[in-house]
Amino acid sequence: MSAPTEHRPLHGKVALVTGASRGIGKAIAVRLAASGAKLACIATEAERARETASLCSALTEGAQAYGCEVGDTKKVAELVEQVQKELGGLDILVNNAGITRDQLLMRMSEDDFDRVIAVNLKGAWNFLKAASRPLMKSKGRVINISSVVGVMGNAGQANYAASKAGLIGLTKAVAKELAGRGVCVNVVAPGFVTTDMTAALDEAARSKLVESIPLGRLGGPEDIAAAVEFLAGPGGAYITGQTLVVDGGMCI
Ligand code: NAP
Repeated sequence: MSAPTEHRPLHGKVALVTGASRGIGKAIAVRLAASGAKLACIATEAERARETASLCSALTEGAQAYGCEVGDTKKVAELVEQVQKELGGLDILVNNAGITRDQLLMRMSEDDFDRVIAVNLKGAWNFLKAASRPLMKSKGRVINISSVVGVMGNAGQANYAASKAGLIGLTKAVAKELAGRGVCVNVVAPGFVTTDMTAALDEAARSKLVESIPLGRLGGPEDIAAAVEFLAGPGGAYITGQTLVVDGGMCI
């Protein structure tokens, strides 16, 4: 059974989360649904976001799965229209979809660079552009999921680091543009989180990584979802243009 409305600060809000089929995006969608928001769960294909949408449906009054290539400007614009029609508006946008194609600069292909920028950075720009009007209407919130790699850099991730640092710049610019219309735009920058994206790391590399994290553990998707929920909720009302690093102290 759902919690009473007074404990559900996002009741009546509509949230769109990209990359909601698994990992961090799935945890964000479920957390926002538990706070009362209606959820548009986006993955590359609707089928892939179906399980998250049904978890959200058990927690809130409306949740739908949608498929969309985030790098496709026209498809994103159509999707944002569809979500508004089907869920009744748009209040919270979480740009979470992301990919890696790691390689040292000297070996990195142009395609690997372009693809990562197209999904991680242009994907977020596509959604921001398509959603800016409804977000101005709702005085909404945007949370862009970057990475500590966008803050610190990382060898073998020139494409990914550029896309994630780009997201921070995009956030600051759009935060300044939309502040006058009551829209708050922020970044959450996770450290190392256990998901499919980081599953390839072997045990030795994993323990070495843990040693570099002051809080002594890797993050879980829930750790990131909690920060997103805060920025999307009443506590985030006077915060804009900021980067909230959620990394167990890794880049102190
Ligand atoms: P993940 O488990 O690999 O999931 C990626 C999600 O993005 C999936 O839902 C995937 O959908 C979606 N996606 C990928 N390419 C897409 C495209 N072209 N169009 C639409 N959707 C697409 O990733 P994660 O670890 O949860 O990471 C989520 C976000 O956090 C990413 O932006 C990542 O860069 C960032 N991050 C992760 C970590 C970490 O340690 N895991 C650290 C810092 C930042 P499908 O299921 O349909 O493929």
